[in-house]
Amino acid sequence: MWADPELTLVSSRVADFLRPMQVSKGQNICDVVVIGAGVYGVWIAYELQRSGKRVILIDAHGTGHSRSSSGGESRIIRMGYGADEIYTRSAQRALQLWQEFFGRINETLFQQTGVLWLAHEEDPYPGRCAETLHRVRIPFEKLTTSEVHQRFPQIGLDRVSWAVLEPESGIIMARRAVQAVAREAINNGVEYLQGAVQPPNGEGRLTDITTTNGERILAATYVFACGAWLPKMFPGLLADRIRPTRQEVFFFGAPAGDCRFTMPALPTWIDFKDEAYGLPDLEGRGVKIAIDRHGPRFDPESGNRVVTPEGLLEVRQYLARRLPELRNAPVTETRVCQYENTSNGDFLIDLHPDFENVWLVGGGSGHGFKHGPVVGEYVAARIDGKSEGSEARFSLATKAFHQQRTVY
Ligand SMILES: Cc1cc2nc3c(=O)[nH]c(=O)nc-3n(C[C@H](O)[C@H](O)[C@H](O)COP(=O)(O)OP(=O)(O)OC[C@H]3O[C@@H](n4cnc5c(N)ncnc54)[C@H](O)[C@@H]3O)c2cc1C
Repeated sequence: MWADPELTLVSSRVADFLRPMQVSKGQNICDVVVIGAGVYGVWIAYELQRSGKRVILIDAHGTGHSRSSSGGESRIIRMGYGADEIYTRSAQRALQLWQEFFGRINETLFQQTGVLWLAHEEDPYPGRCAETLHRVRIPFEKLTTSEVHQRFPQIGLDRVSWAVLEPESGIIMARRAVQAVAREAINNGVEYLQGAVQPPNGEGRLTDITTTNGERILAATYVFACGAWLPKMFPGLLADRIRPTRQEVFFFGAPAGDCRFTMPALPTWIDFKDEAYGLPDLEGRGVKIAIDRHGPRFDPESGNRVVTPEGLLEVRQYLARRLPELRNAPVTETRVCQYENTSNGDFLIDLHPDFENVWLVGGGSGHGFKHGPVVGEYVAARIDGKSEGSEARFSLATKAFHQQRTVY
């Protein structure tokens, strides 16, 4: 282990739900600092600690906070990725790892709602999903519109010509899941610090990082998993390679006593061609609907998180077609979150070109949450030198400056 006894790490305020950090004079050096406690940072810290590393996890606002992309209440875990088998396999492995983790902590943070792909005639994507699911041996059903109608009569089938159902997929209760991984990592020995890390300068080997409070932390390896804040952290490198966009999310309340819009009656559904998706009412929040088209550029720190009347109008028009009986349903909650998009939607997991010991991890691009455990395994293996090789699609070199979304 790399060490410098001259320096002292000063602990800072921690999020209320996290155990106070156990750092004292002399414990100032760690193997790896993970900056950012979103879904990627917490899983990376968790996996590195399990592989025997001494890890500090640091976040500016606390794990799963409202401005982080991982701070939403729910995220879909589906296996279909068109012809992109790499993500189908990753989602398959991730679901297994999430479920094992929830089993270990004895908490139910996965809801097996099933995921229904609504296919439009002219849209090849659901067909490609079905081919890949078949090849990878993930259970799925192809349904005709009359079969969909029979099972889910509350869904309007306007412009839909068939469907794919992934019965084993569903929803991860995102914020609580991320906080649970952080809590377990800390219970296992990861040290957590709340502080805003300043952008590092220089090149070669990074020796230390500092927070805006003047704290200094030394490590052998640094992992920056800062989500939509990555372009602020590395403006010269990432300002145009990761583009945060503003995304609005709405929840609608079903009529009193009506169970047709909760699970198991209503599955999660994806309307790929209409760029929309919906979740059944989980835990009484209401049916969740969002448009999956990239919104305008967004500042994750200071951006306005109040939804727009235009956004509500579009979602209500969609609702009137897909769940006609909820066309006039009241909005029960809204959220504004940000995607952190790479040019085509592939993740960014690579060494910084100017620093031999700095990793960049992010670019979840609106679909990255589910893969958290796999990203954790992958990054830990690469840092440990145990990886079978690097995945070219995650490299910085493949990240262009223009947007051309192909991975969803
Ligand atoms: C509306 C919406 C719906 C989505 N739906 C899905 C879905 O259904 N399924 C799916 O798989 N994915 C989905 N995603 C994508 C997924 O949520 C994100 O890709 C994922 O959460 C990104 O995680 P992250 O760890 O990279 O970033 P974040 O969760 O944003 O975490 C980054 C962290 O870094 C911290 N940080 C930043 N700068 C600093 C600093 N200087 N010092 C210290 N800490 C810092 C931040 O405070 C933050 O906590 C959705 C995203 C949105 C917005």
